[in-house]
Amino acid sequence: MNAQTHPAREAAQYDVIIIGAGAAGLMCAGEAAKQGRKTCIIEHAKKPAEKIRISGGGRCNFTNLYTKPENFISENPHFCKSALARFTPQDFIKRLNARGIAWHEKHPEKNTGQLFCDHSATDIIDMLMDEVRAHKAELKLQTSVSNIEARPQGGFSLQTTQGALHTESLVIASGGLSIPKIGASPFGYKIARQFGLNIVDPKPALVPLTFDQDMLALCKSLSGVSLEARASNAKASFMDGLLFTHRGLSGPAILQISSYLEDGEPFTINLAPTYDMIETLKTAKQERPKKQLQNIISETLPARLAESLCKDAGAERKIAELPDKALAALGARINAWPVCPIGTEGYRTAEVTRGGVDTNDLSSKTMEAKNHPGLYFIGEVVDVTGHLGGFNFQWAWASGYVAGQYV
Ligand SMILES: Cc1cc2nc3c(=O)[nH]c(=O)nc-3n(C[C@H](O)[C@H](O)[C@H](O)COP(=O)(O)OP(=O)(O)OC[C@H]3O[C@@H](n4cnc5c(N)ncnc54)[C@H](O)[C@@H]3O)c2cc1C
Repeated sequence: MNAQTHPAREAAQYDVIIIGAGAAGLMCAGEAAKQGRKTCIIEHAKKPAEKIRISGGGRCNFTNLYTKPENFISENPHFCKSALARFTPQDFIKRLNARGIAWHEKHPEKNTGQLFCDHSATDIIDMLMDEVRAHKAELKLQTSVSNIEARPQGGFSLQTTQGALHTESLVIASGGLSIPKIGASPFGYKIARQFGLNIVDPKPALVPLTFDQDMLALCKSLSGVSLEARASNAKASFMDGLLFTHRGLSGPAILQISSYLEDGEPFTINLAPTYDMIETLKTAKQERPKKQLQNIISETLPARLAESLCKDAGAERKIAELPDKALAALGARINAWPVCPIGTEGYRTAEVTRGGVDTNDLSSKTMEAKNHPGLYFIGEVVDVTGHLGGFNFQWAWASGYVAGQYV
């Protein structure tokens, strides 16, 4: 007898196969195996959870204390509510505490709620992997799946580089498209399409923005300058750091607004969000008429930026020498600088992918495909994208956790 005549006999049989050993996949595997399900994780990279390893500058911003559905972008903003309510930031913190993993809140004075490991992101990988091992889930590294088919008797048959596998439940946890060099692939979207699920057009998000030649020249000349700014469009507004780079604009405020921009959509940057600059310049003209305008502006903005703005406006002189109208125009520009990106740095540097498997095709309670029992999608592959600040991991934990209870 050979494999061709009796392929079913050759195939190893599992209750649950999870594709992708990232944040969501490992969480789901631990939960499924804990329920007594015979679980196997398939990962094509050499190591599991590479994104956790590099996240948060190596310390993993693993959750956010103030996680709310409003921190997520999706065609259906309600979809994430159920999972987020059933596995909360506190639930994840409890696991870290039980294991003695030290963590801290970054900038508690700013109340941003971002939690990081004190030591290293590998503490979290070790915790997830120990859970997987403790409940005897199997991890197949450097393994690729070439074909998946639904079996007539139910369940799925997978052709992999380690042979044929059968499973009752199949969980796709292969993530988004960001950072292809550490394993990102469009695999999840391909499988979703194969089984008739819709895909919301994937795009790089939480990503630095690029600009036309003139603006790029300005960004290059100011490369390294950073400040607190507010980036806004009609849909969203974020006050956080902004950084000029030799490729364009970056920094948290820019990454955040990038998730809300359509291609070529302009937005505004308030370079001095806690000042009314028209008023500030008007008062300065009355009280300190002999001062150079540039020096007055550099009391609020970084000196190089102040110099550049004055040069650009042809206003490199004493404030008294400038007409009120010109000062008002400059003040207005500082408070609402219109910029128009031509693109983004793309998946090479994007922190996440927005879009993905359409949530209308999934159960928000279980993450199971509505049209195909036994098929689940979790984590970033789903059209749920968090803001910057630990929300994307919280979605990965929560969606992985809930699916793990049902697979
Ligand atoms: C540089 C960087 C820093 C980040 N920092 C943070 C942070 O501090 N806080 C935060 O909340 N979020 C952060 N994120 C986002 C966060 O890492 C992701 O949203 C999260 O990892 C998504 O989890 P996931 O399990 O869905 O996907 P992933 O963690 O990406 O895991 C998917 C896994 O599937 C594997 N895979 C893909 N295709 C296949 C295939 N065909 N066959 C087998 N395996 C496959 C991949 O190799 C990978 O191991 C960061 C992202 C990046 C890129």
